[in-house]
Amino acid sequence: MAAVSARVRFAPSPTGSLHIGNALSAVANRGFGGWMLLRIDDTDPARNVTGGQDAIVADLEWLGVRWDEGPVHQSERQERHREAAEAVGARFDGVTLLRQDGTPTYHLASVVDDADFGITHVIRGNDHRPNEALHARLARALGFEPPEYRHHGLILGEDGKKLSKRAEGATVQSLREAGIPAEAARAYLEELGLPAHDVHYDLARIRRLAIDALAALPDEELAARVGAPASVVPALRGARDLNEARDYADLILTAPVPVEASPETLARARELIAGGAAPKEVVREVKAVGGDLRSLRLALTGREQGPELSAVLAALPREEALRRVDASL
Ligand code: GLU
Repeated sequence: MAAVSARVRFAPSPTGSLHIGNALSAVANRGFGGWMLLRIDDTDPARNVTGGQDAIVADLEWLGVRWDEGPVHQSERQERHREAAEAVGARFDGVTLLRQDGTPTYHLASVVDDADFGITHVIRGNDHRPNEALHARLARALGFEPPEYRHHGLILGEDGKKLSKRAEGATVQSLREAGIPAEAARAYLEELGLPAHDVHYDLARIRRLAIDALAALPDEELAARVGAPASVVPALRGARDLNEARDYADLILTAPVPVEASPETLARARELIAGGAAPKEVVREVKAVGGDLRSLRLALTGREQGPELSAVLAALPREEALRRVDASL
């Protein structure tokens, strides 16, 4: 397993938010190495996307994956790559190392940079397995001892092909935007570890881990992530992701428009709330007299569904709960 002296690198191309399979490589490298380089593989100008590197850095920070050196850009090391190629020429084993314009290709840049940065283990996706023999031979031809290569399974879509970047939850950014807490994404990737074979993407598993991750957040942290005051936290606890939690917070913080609701139910609820009954007691009593809980929920939140009614009552200041009941009475 992880060796303290292992030196690893995560080497994304700057094409925008990380594919979940690339994020798997990042987490696997971090878990393996004592020292990690973040290297931007920008050898192919056609694939470089404006803001692509910033998106990757934001993804890694969000996932809590830290690195020790970098970001180092391969494009800034072209002189060194050309100099290294002098020993073997512009082509090697039938593969182009230097293009017509003298710029180094991925294979040359990767092998030289892995050597120069003292990389001991290269951990990357199975799609690079075909490159292993070439990279090892090229390293030796250039006078370097090749690192150890480990290739992990890819993350597949429902169709059994490599997950499309457009598929739901396929990029780190899309998970973040879906309200998945970072801990859940990270936990999923750590669970996968270094899969020997390709695996099907399990977004349902991430969603279950999201529920656990939210449950583990202290009140203040949950409130901060939602951008709401800590007083609303009771109403956020049943939310399955941060977007749902934000939605629940809005229900508490914004008074609904008054609704048509059972006056008997609202009158009874009003009595109980004004009398200082605890939230659970209010719900129990209204239910006991055959009251219409849907009416009470509508009056308090304007919605048919949402957090538990007692949680809504716990999150609303008493005067505000009374105002909302009165508005619909
Ligand atoms: N830029 C390559 C990729 O993202 C890196 C492959 C490697 O790790 O050597 O697939």
